[in-house]
Amino acid sequence: MYDVIIIGAGPGGIFSAYELSKNSDLKIAVFELGRPLEQRKCPIDGKKIKSCIKCPVCSIMSGFGGAGAFSDGKYNITNQFGGTLYEHIGQDRAIELMKYVDEINCRYGGSVTKLYSTANSDIKRKCLQNGLHLLDAQVRHLGTDINYEVLGNIYAELSKKVEFKFNTEVRSISVNDDGSFNIITQNDSFSCRKCIVSVGRSGSKWLESVCDDLGIETLSNRVDIGVRVELPYEIFRPMTDELYESKIVYRTEKFEDNVRTFCMNPKGVVVNENTNGIVTVNGHSYENEKMHTDNTNFALLVSKHFSMPFKDSNGYGESIARLSNMLGGGVIIQRFGDLVRGRRSTVKRIEESYVRPTLAATPGDLSLVIPKRILDGIIEMIYALDKICPGTANDDTLLYGVEVKFYNMEVCLDDNLETTIKGLYVIGDGSGVTHSLSHASASGVHVAHMILNG
Ligand SMILES: Cc1cc2nc3c(=O)[nH]c(=O)nc-3n(C[C@H](O)[C@H](O)[C@H](O)COP(=O)(O)OP(=O)(O)OC[C@H]3O[C@@H](n4cnc5c(N)ncnc54)[C@H](O)[C@@H]3O)c2cc1C
Repeated sequence: MYDVIIIGAGPGGIFSAYELSKNSDLKIAVFELGRPLEQRKCPIDGKKIKSCIKCPVCSIMSGFGGAGAFSDGKYNITNQFGGTLYEHIGQDRAIELMKYVDEINCRYGGSVTKLYSTANSDIKRKCLQNGLHLLDAQVRHLGTDINYEVLGNIYAELSKKVEFKFNTEVRSISVNDDGSFNIITQNDSFSCRKCIVSVGRSGSKWLESVCDDLGIETLSNRVDIGVRVELPYEIFRPMTDELYESKIVYRTEKFEDNVRTFCMNPKGVVVNENTNGIVTVNGHSYENEKMHTDNTNFALLVSKHFSMPFKDSNGYGESIARLSNMLGGGVIIQRFGDLVRGRRSTVKRIEESYVRPTLAATPGDLSLVIPKRILDGIIEMIYALDKICPGTANDDTLLYGVEVKFYNMEVCLDDNLETTIKGLYVIGDGSGVTHSLSHASASGVHVAHMILNG
């Protein structure tokens, strides 16, 4: 019998475990589907294999550190994006917890990195003059390398008090007569008084079935679809040197849809992301200068909200990603110039491009994959960005598709992030409440405090 079992060792689970173990002698276990940090290695990393080989457990998404382990380690301190945690715990508390998470990251090795801010930025004015809206945030960029180091240091500390069970998939959760929980894994069953579920995006399908079984209400109505843009670092330099990450929103003239930048990686690389066997695109960058490239990449995303009777927004996003996987055997790459001329990119056209792709993807035609309305919005935004960072709309700007942000279902939770079943909490990206490292981590701290004060 454990006092608390945490399912998932991503940022949400890690920060719950950290806060609980630091402030109590509770008996805590963390069950994680993936491997310990040092054993996480993507088998095609560094090899010239184009498409993901679909391992049963993806080392990029699973293991200690969760999806965040090889991420760019950008911790955004803001309520304007990254999740809606503030709707549950209030704006001030959410910011306070994100700052607290930043302090811990700094304490465990992150203090060598820089905290950027959009406050008083001239860029903000320039954006407004061109119909673009720069969202307010502070961002700590740990970089993939320092992020990894911080995680290693936190694990060394945590493992003194918390029991970690790696390579352990939780299959089901049931409630015992006395209100405790029975946690069934592939090998065994365990009991606990409180259970924190922090299974991230990769565990969202499983979590949906848990919610169904336990009668917990869920909602699924949003997915973000778009492309990853890659261009020479110099083009976005004025922006990234000052802000590192800028979240810019543009309302299109044609459909009045919002298109936004997401996950900006100066001198970074574009990477594959595998969610439940579907390969989409993402990006990250390193703090270590030796790992820098000549390019900057960022996503341009359009949110799709569905109304009744359609409920499966993730299914919609998956179908689009599957289409790109079907046509390209994985991620498709296209020059912006080819896209606007209505022709596919070819190996030759990509080779002749002045922008060297950092991901080996299949040259093709994104207009065969991405719905017209979304693609029109992305093209409009590229022209709008060209006004503040001239060169964005160059023919050789590379677009990779598709990038999909699955928003999971949103679990019906109270302000403590507790489900309708007492003692069962859902945090992080799996809850649908957060979509980022800082919000997921802050949700973990919040729930730990609720349990400690409960
Ligand atoms: C390439 C990449 C780059 C990113 N860059 C950034 C960035 O710079 N900034 C940012 O804010 N966000 C970034 N993100 C998103 C960020 O990583 C997530 O928002 C964050 O990791 C969510 O944390 P979490 O704890 O909720 O879930 P996760 O990190 O997804 O962790 C969930 C864990 O639960 C485990 N799990 C799932 N199901 C089970 C089960 N049944 N039993 C046991 N364990 C299970 C998984 O294996 C996983 O390790 C990036 C994501 C990727 C993939």
